[in-house]
Amino acid sequence: MNDVDRLKQIVDDRIESESDALFALGDEILHEPELGFKEHATSERVQRWFKHLGLPFRSGLAVTGAKATLDTGRPGPTVCLMGELDAIVVPGHPHANPDSHAAHACGHNAQIAGLLAAAVALTDDRILSGLSGRIVFFAVPAEEFVELSYRRQLIDAGAIEFIGGKPELIRLGEFDDVDLAMMIHTSAPKHGEKPVELWESLNGLIAKTATFLGKAAHVGNPWDGVNALKASTLAMDAIDAQRETFREDDGVRIHHIIARGGDLVNVVPSEVVIEMNVRGKTAAAIREAGSLVDRCIHSGALAFGARAVVDTLPGYLPLRNDPGLADILIPNVERIFGKECVGYRGHSGSCTDTGDVSHLMPTIQPSMAGASGSGHGVDWAIADRSAAYLSPGKTMAMTAIDLLRGDADRAETILESWEAPMTKAEYLEFQRGIRSQKTFEG
Ligand SMILES: [Zn+2]
Ligand SMILES: [Zn+2]
Repeated sequence: MNDVDRLKQIVDDRIESESDALFALGDEILHEPELGFKEHATSERVQRWFKHLGLPFRSGLAVTGAKATLDTGRPGPTVCLMGELDAIVVPGHPHANPDSHAAHACGHNAQIAGLLAAAVALTDDRILSGLSGRIVFFAVPAEEFVELSYRRQLIDAGAIEFIGGKPELIRLGEFDDVDLAMMIHTSAPKHGEKPVELWESLNGLIAKTATFLGKAAHVGNPWDGVNALKASTLAMDAIDAQRETFREDDGVRIHHIIARGGDLVNVVPSEVVIEMNVRGKTAAAIREAGSLVDRCIHSGALAFGARAVVDTLPGYLPLRNDPGLADILIPNVERIFGKECVGYRGHSGSCTDTGDVSHLMPTIQPSMAGASGSGHGVDWAIADRSAAYLSPGKTMAMTAIDLLRGDADRAETILESWEAPMTKAEYLEFQRGIRSQKTFEG
């Protein structure tokens, strides 16, 4: 067994020896789901682990984020390991909160268990003494792009500027001291799918809220009113009619919910609110699809003589997984799941704010087995706690060792050839440029 193998064996042993506590942690979070920017109890749990491991940390970052730093005492780059704190809204999920309907139906509870598993391993002196640079363990809030009206209130109150946790943490400078980033998302492979999946890229998105304003009237005299619901339906139909014009390579997805559909069934609806996501593979594709959506909303208002107000908010940038980091990470997942365990995929229609981080530094976010059912669905469950809670921790710890061993040569090699798509200033300017409000008079 060579030196690196010995260190990786220590990772395995340390995490296995703490498995009961890590299983309990993952399950406790599962049973106490909290939505984005409200993850106070979950963050407290993380902080108790940081304390227990003797890690200096800061908390209350972007409301609930907690960030611990492990310094080897030798100069070198900083590797950031991330885990997301928030749940998603899934009414009817067996572990949903009865009031908020929050449920860990995306496996973020497993991410936090994995993050702390990595911290358990890397705080071992036998490992730390052979590394250079620093390791940041970052529990990050609000990855799910939900509860837009609540988050708008937070924005109005000055508590946040961006809807998502990582964009907000970037704004606050909490990624300024980080050079490379890594996260592992839980997955539920279907029959024939590999236990680990690595996508080349993921979509980005922007959010639109369209408020159609008509005129209320008794439904017995509809000619006296202006039907905002019908105007919104026509606008959505106009979008649907143009889906065939979306280029496959652009990965455009447009979807909406009716957040408010009218007030009383015997009154012509005078105010209808549609929440939308516009997703795409590139910023240009998202921008183009966004203009199409605006045109369609205008057309609905025009046809009915209604007014439409469209608020556009920046969302997430597309994710690019770094090939250099993949080369280092993959042998570690093969160590856990066996050879040929990685499914290499092209482009995914999903979005994550890890995409924003990937515009500033080499970043990787594979997905890893351990759950069953469908993501964001009532049947999502942790099927294998060892795979879901421990394997991400082992993978991230082993990959951090590879990156930072000796003089951190492997991390330095990746950074030497890295060309950031954006500087932080460009990123903030780009995201802020998306925010707009347009009014269309029909
Ligand atoms: Zn999710
Ligand atoms: Zn997720």
